[in-house]
Amino acid sequence: MILFWPAPLDFFRDIVELAHRYDFVIAHDLAYSEVSYDGYRAPSIFQVEGAREVAIEFHSLSKTFNMTGWRIGFAVGNEKLVEALGRMKTNIDSGIFNAIQWAGTEALSHVDEVLRTILPIYTRRRNVVVNAFRSLGFDLPFPQASFYIWIPVPEGYTALGFAGYLLDQAGVVVTPGIGFGRYGEGYVRISITTADDQLGQAMERIQDTLRGGQT
Ligand SMILES: *Cc1c(COP(=O)(O)O)cnc(C)c1O
Repeated sequence: MILFWPAPLDFFRDIVELAHRYDFVIAHDLAYSEVSYDGYRAPSIFQVEGAREVAIEFHSLSKTFNMTGWRIGFAVGNEKLVEALGRMKTNIDSGIFNAIQWAGTEALSHVDEVLRTILPIYTRRRNVVVNAFRSLGFDLPFPQASFYIWIPVPEGYTALGFAGYLLDQAGVVVTPGIGFGRYGEGYVRISITTADDQLGQAMERIQDTLRGGQT
C-alpha cells in the first residue's frame, strides 16, 4: 500500500534523524506540493526540526502550473546545499529565457486562483478512475495527492502482463509499475492529465473488457 500515500511528517522526522546520525544529505523532490485533494496538504520537510541542517527541497512549476517542459522550478533549504547547487548549475547550463521567468513570477503570484481551477478538474478525474476500478471489484483508495492512480493488478498478472492485456484487449495504454522499480511490481499506473472525455472512454473500454472477460 506504500505507493498510495504521501509521506507523512513522521517519515521526514525519521530520515532527518538518520541524516544527522549518519551525515548524509536529503534531497526532497516535492513536485506535487500543491496537487492534493480533499483538504490534504503535503508537508514540507522543513516542518521537521533539524531539517535545515541536512536537507534541500526541490519544487517545480511543471505540475501545479501546467508548465511541464518549460524547465523552471526552485530549490530551498540548507544554505550550503543551495549554494553548491547554484555553483554546479552555472557550470552546466545558463539562465532560463526571461519570458519564462516572468511567466513563472506571474504563476507564483496566482497560486490560489490556479489551484481553484485545476484541483476540481483533477479531483473529478481521480474519482472517475477510482470509481471505475472499484465498480469492477478492485480494492483501491482515492489518492490524496499527485495526478496518478495506482491500480493493484488482478491475481495471476504481473504489472507488465496486465498492462499488455489492457493494451491488447481494451486498446488502453497504462504504465506498468515495474518501470518505476521493483516496488512498482503488482501495480499499473494511470495518469489523470488526459482530457475528461478520453479518460472516460478509456474507463468504459476497460470496464467492458474486464466484465466481458469475467463472464
Ligand atoms: C514532473 C516531476 C519532476 C520534474 O519536474 P521538472 O521541473 O519538469 O523537471 C520531478 N519529480 C517528480 C516526482 C515529477 O513528477
